[in-house]
Amino acid sequence: MIFLLIIYLEAGKKLMMMNSNLVKPPVLISACLLGNKCRYNGKSYDLPAFVDSLRPFFVIPVCPEILGGLPIPRAPSEINKGAGDDVWEGKALVIAKNGADFTSEFKAGALKTLELSRTHGAIIAIFKENSPSCGCTRIYDGSFSGRLVPGQGVTVSLLEKNGIKVISEKNWLLARGDEFVQKI
Ligand code: SF4
Repeated sequence: MIFLLIIYLEAGKKLMMMNSNLVKPPVLISACLLGNKCRYNGKSYDLPAFVDSLRPFFVIPVCPEILGGLPIPRAPSEINKGAGDDVWEGKALVIAKNGADFTSEFKAGALKTLELSRTHGAIIAIFKENSPSCGCTRIYDGSFSGRLVPGQGVTVSLLEKNGIKVISEKNWLLARGDEFVQKI
């Protein structure tokens, strides 16, 4: 676990160093969208067009679930009977498929992500749709049946409450980013 975390942090550091000589707007990105193998199943996403679209930005890779202390791999989790807002209001929990309650880890990871955004002055985030942490407009409904419902993940809910604009990777690519950035 510690070994994987070091690889993950090193990959993030390299990306940040690639950008460090230039003044670019800082943007938080779901780390799994950048090829970091931090998903619950130890996999990542391979999205070259997405990564290419980030060239004008100072990329800050974040995985809220790892920042919250969860391992790779880990049991998949969903928000039970609610969305990110409900978790912060104490009305819903994040429950893993094996029945474990991961609510405190998800909240801790979200708070650390917010802290990172403040450290770097990031006001934009591009996050992975459907995730119980990073979902921007849709999340799984808590039944582990693959059904999606409108709502945000735990981290997205916290970031948006604190003035950070969050867009999904799909909508980012659809808009090519320009329209979204102009609205901010
Ligand atoms: S969707 Fe978010 S929490 Fe899940 S693996 Fe990707 S970065 Fe981590």
